[in-house]
Amino acid sequence: MIDNNCLFCKIIKGEIPSAKVYEDGEMLVFKDIQPKAKVHLLAIPKDHFKLLSDADGARVGVLGRMLEKIPEIAAENGCENGYRLIINQGEAAGQTVFHLHMHILGGQELDW
Ligand code: AMP
Ligand code: ZN
Repeated sequence: MIDNNCLFCKIIKGEIPSAKVYEDGEMLVFKDIQPKAKVHLLAIPKDHFKLLSDADGARVGVLGRMLEKIPEIAAENGCENGYRLIINQGEAAGQTVFHLHMHILGGQELDW
């Protein structure tokens, strides 16, 4: 499903530009516009849902396949020595874009 008012759905549709590093039928990975580490990528499912807590059934399947693919994508983008994956669940955790996304942070020592 696509939400026409959602920023990341607009990125999926190409209505808003992004620096894509990987795309397949069910996921997209692009560079975060305000990187918080030397490498900061966002991995999103193409199927719009807001929160990690909305993930059930088929959505968990997609998230699993994303987790299978991310090591390769991370390694190809400067995180061959490791990276951190973050999902912010809800406003209290700092979520600002309500289309489920995984932050991939690396390319440097993460001493925090
Ligand atoms: P969160 O705070 O977990 O919801 O993360 C949202 C992330 O999206 C932030 O790290 C933002 O810098 C990033 N972001 C917002 N707008 C864009 C955009 N147009 N292109 C790429 N990243 C974006
Ligand atoms: Zn969306």
